[in-house]
Formats: sequence, C-alpha cells, structure tokens
Amino acid sequence: MDNLKQLKNEEIINLIKNKMVTVADIVDSGICPTCFDKENDHILYGDKTDKMIYENDKFECFFVENPRSDGHTVISTKKHYKDMMEIDDIICKEIFILAKEVMKALKEIYEAESVYLCTMCDGPMNHFHIQLIPRYSFEKRGSKNFVKPRFEYKEDKEKLQQMKQRLSVLAK
Ligand SMILES: [Zn+2]
Repeated sequence: MDNLKQLKNEEIINLIKNKMVTVADIVDSGICPTCFDKENDHILYGDKTDKMIYENDKFECFFVENPRSDGHTVISTKKHYKDMMEIDDIICKEIFILAKEVMKALKEIYEAESVYLCTMCDGPMNHFHIQLIPRYSFEKRGSKNFVKPRFEYKEDKEKLQQMKQRLSVLAK
C-alpha cells in the first residue's frame, strides 16, 4: 500500500470503508492519519466530541476509544507535527504544563495512584501526541502499565463532567 499517496481522497476513503487499508497502511504511505481523519469527517477514528475533556486553539485533550485503563487520555496538537522532535519550545512547554494539570485531575477525580506519560510517534508519518495512562492502587507499578490490555471505552458521565469542569479553569 505504498502508493496510497497517489490516490485521490475519495479513493482512499473507499478503501478505508471497504476495510482494505488500515491506519498502519496510511502511516506507512506517508499520510498523517490524524490529519486525514480530521479532513475527512473522522473516517478513521470517529467523532471524539463526546470524549473531549479540554480544548484550546493549540491542543485537544480527550479520552481514548480503546483505553488501557480508565481515564486513559491523549493530548494532541491541532497543528501537524510528526513527532516531539519537530515541535517548538513554546508548544513543548505548554503541552507539558497541560499534561501536568490533566495528570493531577486524573489523580484526583479518577483516584489514580499515579499517571504514566508516554509519546512514541513512529513510522514514516504520524501526528504528535502524548498519552496519559492512569495506574490504580490495585495495579503493580512499572513499565507493564504502558501495555495493559486495551478495552472498550465506557463513558462515566459524572467523572467526564468533573474532568471538563476542573480543566475549564485553565488558560485558553
Ligand atoms: Zn497530522
């Protein structure tokens, strides 16, 4: 699937609809899946509006569709950067300050014992984002928390509202 880039948008969309290409194929062909998703009505990842806990002109912060633990959060830049090495110092500073606030909120509202942070954008093309993975008191400490089995997101309305409320006080 290394020729995806030569196809028209509608052709790629049809391939996605017919499950003939995966997100990995898109990454391998040098197309950013996150930007492609945004520009094409969320064809790859679906509408995240109901999972959004904070948003400003630079960042989006939302619960993931297939979390590794309750409260598993992604903070993504709105502008395209391939990975952390491409971001400027101001974005770097701001995203880590935002991550700190989300971690504190997860600890308090989700009663996480700790919150792990990783970023691992890889492959020919990707979209810079940070993952925050809560670790709970019933779970062992350590790097295995980064690869806990994924499960389907289940909305907890009350906690979602509390997270939104708590993060809404941050400077936009
Ligand atoms: Zn992108």
